[in-house]
Amino acid sequence: MEKDILILGGGPSGLSTALHLIKIAPHLSTRILILEKEHYPRLKLCAGGLVIDAEVILERLGLDVREVPHVDSSSIRFDFAGKGLNVRVPKRHAIRVIRRNEFDHWLAKKTREAGIEIREGVKVNNVIPDKDGVTVQTDQGEFRATIVVGADGSNGVTRRCIFPNEPVYTARVLEVITPDYPTTEIASGKFSEFDGRRNDVAYFDFFPVPNNIAGYTWDFPTQINGEPMRCWGIYDTNLLADSNRPALKEPLAEEMKRHGFDLNDYEIKGHPIRWYSPWNKASVPRVLLVGDAVGADPIFGEGISMALGYGVIAAAEIAESIQRGEFSFGRYKRRLVRSGLGQTLFARWLITQIIYTLKWRWFQILLWRILKPIVLFVAWVFVLNWSKRMPLRN
Ligand SMILES: Cc1cc2nc3c(=O)[nH]c(=O)nc-3n(C[C@H](O)[C@H](O)[C@H](O)COP(=O)(O)OP(=O)(O)OC[C@H]3O[C@@H](n4cnc5c(N)ncnc54)[C@H](O)[C@@H]3O)c2cc1C
Repeated sequence: MEKDILILGGGPSGLSTALHLIKIAPHLSTRILILEKEHYPRLKLCAGGLVIDAEVILERLGLDVREVPHVDSSSIRFDFAGKGLNVRVPKRHAIRVIRRNEFDHWLAKKTREAGIEIREGVKVNNVIPDKDGVTVQTDQGEFRATIVVGADGSNGVTRRCIFPNEPVYTARVLEVITPDYPTTEIASGKFSEFDGRRNDVAYFDFFPVPNNIAGYTWDFPTQINGEPMRCWGIYDTNLLADSNRPALKEPLAEEMKRHGFDLNDYEIKGHPIRWYSPWNKASVPRVLLVGDAVGADPIFGEGISMALGYGVIAAAEIAESIQRGEFSFGRYKRRLVRSGLGQTLFARWLITQIIYTLKWRWFQILLWRILKPIVLFVAWVFVLNWSKRMPLRN
């Protein structure tokens, strides 16, 4: 089958690329085909935390994410061993938590309503670019396209096919779902009976850093089928791992035990996250990568807003290349690096090198408990609000 634009992967980066493309060039809608190996609503291991930038990009597409079941966190805590700083966003929630099966299904529905075809249950096995186009081999036969977008995530085949020998920077992540904290209602909010943890707060704790885990544990409110639940996990960029990689299960179990949960009672799932480094490549002639296939945020492994942002840049690049009839994508990385998304990815990569390699206990205490105004300033200017520097036509 022959199509102009084949998007491999129907997660947020692939769907965002398609939606932004037809925003710029509506006539392309029938010339785009998305191939997705799963069937919606499909499982995707993810804590589902949406930061403000994800919501801004969706709003600009005319989409209201409140249509998706969600839980809003009133604030976020960044702690070292249980003590640290509290972050609130004036007049809004600090973070909105969705489940990815529901969010991606909703976004795919919006994409279809916009006139774009998504073929589910098609697994891509190989991507072979040549000077006239790209051949995509799948378990449902061969496809041919003028342009291919690799939106197939951290474990995707597109990157492996076009950059077989490139180094990869990959974080290890474990996730666990538990029931919510038992609560007693107190005046303005709900409080846990255990240790003062609030049900509506998202917690990060960086206590594993001195033990060579360059990351944190998290504890988010979430919901499953309308039932309040907690999503726990541990993230390690692998920056401090050397050859001796510390186990992740023990620190997660320790953190959950402190708050009344036994990890052994719940199912643990793991998935890698490919994170952004300035050296990550993003395209070859006729094929460009988006989302985790290029790299997510290295500090937190936050990648949904980024995936949506990659879609903005890729769409602009593709629309221009179609106009010019030239598909080298030689300017894609530069366009990415100069955008609000590229700026925050670079800043986050730099911050990662500082906060995780200076792993000493005293530095982590200084950072999360004492330098609060500086941390808040850096977060507000360099980590968040980048989407406002991403015009719809980038
Ligand atoms: C445990 C965990 C927790 C996380 N928590 C958060 C969080 O709270 N907030 C946040 O912002 N980010 C979080 N992330 C990161 C986030 O999930 C990713 O950054 C985001 O999903 C990237 O979107 P994407 O579209 O690039 O890739 P994906 O969402 O992975 O989508 C890729 C799509 O491609 C499809 N696909 C893959 N291979 C093929 C193939 N061969 N053929 C056809 N289709 C294929 C997949 O089925 C999938 O639908 C978390 C990740 C993990 C692992």
